[in-house]
This record gives sequence, structure tokens and C-alpha cells, in this order.
Amino acid sequence: MEMKQRLESLRKQIPENVTLVAVSKTHPPERIMQAYQLGQRVFGENKAQELSRKYEELPKDIEWHMIGHLQRNKVKYIASFVDLIHSVDSERLLVEINKQAGRFDRTIDCLFQVHIAEEETKFGLDATELSGILESYRMGKYPSVRIRGLMGMATLTEDTSKVTGEFAGLHERFDSIRATIPGFDILSMGMSGDYMLAIQQGSTMVRVGSAVFGPRSYSTNQEE
Ligand SMILES: *Cc1c(COP(=O)(O)O)cnc(C)c1O
Repeated sequence: MEMKQRLESLRKQIPENVTLVAVSKTHPPERIMQAYQLGQRVFGENKAQELSRKYEELPKDIEWHMIGHLQRNKVKYIASFVDLIHSVDSERLLVEINKQAGRFDRTIDCLFQVHIAEEETKFGLDATELSGILESYRMGKYPSVRIRGLMGMATLTEDTSKVTGEFAGLHERFDSIRATIPGFDILSMGMSGDYMLAIQQGSTMVRVGSAVFGPRSYSTNQEE
């Protein structure tokens, strides 16, 4: 199937109040331009240097999201332009984002990534870490950061009731925090395999890669 048809079918399925982040990791700038010409403006990448190279090369009205695990020493590559960081998974990282945002005289929008999957390997804050980091944010320790919501990745499984349960749990947490933080309005959950389940559970932002661009090849771009 062509990218045009894939994007059209996604736009039919995704309600207007849900943002589609086209996950372009591993795909070359020409492919991103193809989606851009079809009207897509929000793109997600999971590596800081790749994101920065693509930012330099591509139109400046693109909204760039960092969706992957971010090392503290790489924040500097994206701090001057990134529109949303989905993957804040430690307070040390938040400290660095705040510092780099300050250097560029910006406020950077961020989401806290919460661990909801069964797999050990997926990054994210547990419940205790989340309340700790929220507490220090509420105390005003990070003036150059604006926390906009939560992000989570469900377990990779065919068991839809499990995935639905994980998304529902994240939505519940999102709602309970929402009342206490102004501007807390983004719930980033759902990927190519589970975005409809995520939307049913209240997602406001889906991160969709292969269902937009087709399968990824990991044979190049492994230097980072
Ligand atoms: C790669 C990636 C996605 C998109 O994955 P697809 O299955 O291709 O839609 C979404 N979120 C994160 C954090 C990713 O790393």
C-alpha cells in the first residue's frame, strides 16, 4: 500500500481530537517529505542525533517530538528546537532538560513516561517515582519545563484485554493528576499495533510508525 492510502485510512480512524505523531525513525528525509506533502506536520524520532539532523534538513514548520529513551548527555542536541519530549523517565533527565531549555531561553514541553507494560525492558517511571517527580515539579524546581501529560507503552501481546487494561490504568492516573497541574492535557499512548485500543481508552496522542511508513529497516543508522 502507498503512504497516501495509509495516511488517509489512519485519518479516517483517528478522531479529530487525537494527534497523530508520524514516527519516522530510521526513514530518510525524502520519506518524511512525502508524508509532509500529504499534509503531515508532526513527526516523532527516538534518537537525538538523528532527530537533530532531520530538523536541520527539513521544513521548519514541522513539529518534532522525541519519543525514545533520552540520555542526559544528548539533550543538548535537541533542546533548541524540540516541541515535545515524551520520554522523561528520571528526575536526573528532567534536571538536564530544564538546564538546557534555560540555556536556549525556552520552555520545553514534556511528558512523564510511565511503566505500564509487563516487560522489564521498557523504560518508564513506576508509581513511586512518578509521585516523587511530580512533587518536585509542583514545587517549582523546573521553571524551564512544562509537564503536559503522560506517555506509556503497553505490553507487546495479542491479548487485547491485557493491553486495554494497561491503557485504562494509565488513563486513570492521568485523570487523577490532571486536576492538580494546569495545562496537563496530553495522554500519549498507542502505536501501529494498538492505537485503536488506546483511543478507546482515552488517548489524545498516538505514535504511529509502520502503519504510516511501512516496515522499518534497521540495517543502517546504527551508529548512535
Ligand atoms: C518506534 C516507536 C513507536 C512506533 O512504533 P510502530 O509500531 O512502528 O507504530 C511508537 N513509540 C515509540 C516510543 C517508539 O519507539
